[in-house]
Amino acid sequence: MKFKPANNIQDLQYFGEFGGVNPSISDSSTYTFLSAKTMFDTFEGNTDGCYLYSRHSSPSNLYLGEALAAMEGTETANVAGSGMGAITPTILQICGNGDHIVSSRTIYGGTYAFLKNFTPRMGIETSFVDITKLDVVEAAITDNTKMIYCESVSNPLLEVADIKALAKIAKKYDLKLVVDNTFSPLSIAPAQLGADVVLHSLTKFINGSSDTMGGVVCASSDFINSQKSVIDGASMLLGASMDSMRSASILKNMRTLHIRMKQHSKNAAFLAEKFEADGLKTVYPGLKSHPSHEVFTSMMNKEYGYGGMLTIDAGSLEKANELMELMQEKNLGYLAVSLGFYKTLFSAPGTSTSSEIPEDEQAEMGLTDGLIRFSIGLDNDIERTYEMMNACMKEVGVL
Ligand SMILES: *Cc1c(COP(=O)(O)O)cnc(C)c1O
Repeated sequence: MKFKPANNIQDLQYFGEFGGVNPSISDSSTYTFLSAKTMFDTFEGNTDGCYLYSRHSSPSNLYLGEALAAMEGTETANVAGSGMGAITPTILQICGNGDHIVSSRTIYGGTYAFLKNFTPRMGIETSFVDITKLDVVEAAITDNTKMIYCESVSNPLLEVADIKALAKIAKKYDLKLVVDNTFSPLSIAPAQLGADVVLHSLTKFINGSSDTMGGVVCASSDFINSQKSVIDGASMLLGASMDSMRSASILKNMRTLHIRMKQHSKNAAFLAEKFEADGLKTVYPGLKSHPSHEVFTSMMNKEYGYGGMLTIDAGSLEKANELMELMQEKNLGYLAVSLGFYKTLFSAPGTSTSSEIPEDEQAEMGLTDGLIRFSIGLDNDIERTYEMMNACMKEVGVL
């Protein structure tokens, strides 16, 4: 049967302790044991189903992890307090002193800064490459390489990684392929295409209400257990754990993820086609003009579309800023970073989320001053939205 990520979430069943239709929230940081021996065994990692301390796991966190593992089709998953709280312990679990990473050069600014500025302190070196050029990826691999790191759809340039082909390279050299799938939940299922570890910032589409942070690592039980080890597990020891109250609320929001993603994708596809027809430089993986349109199409679960993210080039930072301020004034969305909200969010990545990347490197990767990144909202009447955006573009002279 074809892998249907939303069905897998929907088919999970759990009840509260009094038969509530929602699981009870575990409002405790620590847990009692009936015998001292069981406590000892649990510390040694030998007792399944026993809770020790909520930095390690809690019933609420396990429920959310189970739903996310069902979505990605991995054995299990471990939630974290933020996306970076999932990404950094994954990198540090796989790599140590003397190791090397081949990473896409167009990744989330925080991940880029971690690999570029922080991990070299620990003797971990990273080569940043154009992930769409498979020969360049392969040529960057050295004897010390442990990991290929990329985003399925990259932030902010919406480059698409050919996960199947990258998985083949990773296998050939015995490397871990780690994929951040934050921009394309449900649409792309990287583990089904050969990725070893799938990461998400739950802060974005998956939670979808911009009221909390969260992250997740979806992987094999062996990998997740190693991250949670009380002896040397990077998640357990670095401590970016999620609170049970939050995991319970994210689990509830996840139930509508499939409906939201379809609407985000439908609206973004509509606007991208209109913007392109108006002569704006528009980047959206669903457009035939997108260099990786075919690759995305070959990987996707079609019913969820090409996602809610698109970019346009307003020509200059001044024009971009003017346009964003006017669109906010007309209540077409918010001038804010982040993504996956019910309202459209827009920002200029060069001066915000990707400002960690030096200007010359921004230019080299095609991140122009006038670039505006849109996370398209759930607007019911997207034609009206388009007409109003079009009027704003004419008013500031972008069109
Ligand atoms: C936001 C984001 C992150 C970081 O997640 P936080 O929840 O902000 O820590 C990582 N990767 C991508 C692609 C993101 O958009």
